[in-house]
Amino acid sequence: MDQKSQSNPPRVLIFPFPVQSHVNSMLKLAELLCFAGIHVTFLNSDHNHRLLLCHSGAHTRLTHYPGFWFATIPDGLPDDHPRTGDRIKELFYALSAVTRPRFREMMVSSRLGAETGGAVTCIIADGIMCFTIDVAEEVGIPIISFRTVSASCFWAFFCIPKLIEAGELPLRGDDDDMDRPASAVSGMESFLRIRDLPAFCRVHDLTDPGLQLVTTETQLTTRAHALILNTFDELEESALAHIRTHISKVYTIGPLHAHLATRQSAEPASLPPDMTRSNSLWEEDRSCMAWLDSQPIKSVIYVSFGSITVVTTDQMIEFWYGLVNSGKPFLWVIRPNSVAGERQIPTELSEATKKRGYMVGWVPQEEVLAHPSVGGFLTHSGWNSTLESIVSEKPMICWPYFADQQVNSRFVGEAVWRIGLDMKDTCDRLTVEKMVRDLLEVRRDEFLRSVHRMAELAKKSVREGGSSYRNLDRMIEDIKSMNCHVH
Ligand code: UDP
Repeated sequence: MDQKSQSNPPRVLIFPFPVQSHVNSMLKLAELLCFAGIHVTFLNSDHNHRLLLCHSGAHTRLTHYPGFWFATIPDGLPDDHPRTGDRIKELFYALSAVTRPRFREMMVSSRLGAETGGAVTCIIADGIMCFTIDVAEEVGIPIISFRTVSASCFWAFFCIPKLIEAGELPLRGDDDDMDRPASAVSGMESFLRIRDLPAFCRVHDLTDPGLQLVTTETQLTTRAHALILNTFDELEESALAHIRTHISKVYTIGPLHAHLATRQSAEPASLPPDMTRSNSLWEEDRSCMAWLDSQPIKSVIYVSFGSITVVTTDQMIEFWYGLVNSGKPFLWVIRPNSVAGERQIPTELSEATKKRGYMVGWVPQEEVLAHPSVGGFLTHSGWNSTLESIVSEKPMICWPYFADQQVNSRFVGEAVWRIGLDMKDTCDRLTVEKMVRDLLEVRRDEFLRSVHRMAELAKKSVREGGSSYRNLDRMIEDIKSMNCHVH
């Protein structure tokens, strides 16, 4: 490294898609880079930044690192917009109309660097906001794309043109056989069905904006300098091998939450004083931890559908009956604004919940999953939740809602990893009841054994010498060498 780059550490601009799960995993990445002495500017939407300041210790924690700055940009939506999954397209449109030109202006004018501690030498941007690649090319700053989905889902996205070419997409009318194979996704021919494709593929018309968007954004990733995936090589070998034939530099550095924990525990002296790990946009209700303390070991089913899922009241009632009838204690996260519609709650459900259930608005999920009383996770199969469950050795029942979740749940279930049950496309109380019993009782040992094996591989990958550990070191060296070129 030359003299100049030694005196000016590299500065990475991290720019997530503005929803909880992307902000969370990219803040973890930011912290890992800070640990390596890299300066970071983290670009949050105004809306999310206000929530983060209100409900988490992230600001205090992150700004403790030398050279760390938060910057903000509008996401283009009014403050009272719910930013939920059912209206996610509006967020994409607003980003394109409002955020895109603002970001360009920020970078072209060098205003961002001037206001936040120095010039940016590398951009790490969310891979579903490829307008950042245009801007990076225009200003001559290397850009790395970060996709927060699994490698398997990224590969399925990548194969959408092949699925269309093979006539497997679009859907063939309303009564199409959703169990027919999606054989154009190489490496998954033997188990992937049309039903397991990313939810954006459930269309009858190829001009559908959602399908167009994910297809284009995924193909554009090949223009970035490299791709970061929050996974580890041993988990998704096949999909990664396929991706690497199209994108030569893929940094698999996950599971990021476990990776961060490992690196921090190796150097406790450099830890920031506020050690709450929270990056939450909602207030965490910690009372659930005391409730968990009062429950028997591995007895509780933890239920959460993530940060943007919306369920109908009918679905909620089916889940509720299923949980109550299973006879197992349950901890259920019901986020504000996450249930659509009004319905009277049957008294028998409220009464049974007083005895065996605990319902809260938002929890410290990593801590909940790590709690010994939790025996399993009824999840929407978001990628972060899936990784967090694996590392905590908790088998899953999967009820995918949209986006990448249909793919993840296929992998979790019997077809591939065998660490849980896939409940996709059904939502009735009998199935819920049976699956909860199967997970926590009937097939408990079998699931615990397989998820334990996977957790061991995950933890090994983020320890010194492990695949993700080495890949992160390699990426850091790469970022440092970009610094020499930019100067
Ligand atoms: N999460 C949390 N508390 C909750 C529910 C969720 O901290 O009560 C976190 C969870 O740990 C995960 C993220 O929110 O990191 C959800 O991300 P995921 O990819 O699973 O789903 P998404 O929200 O994108 O649908």
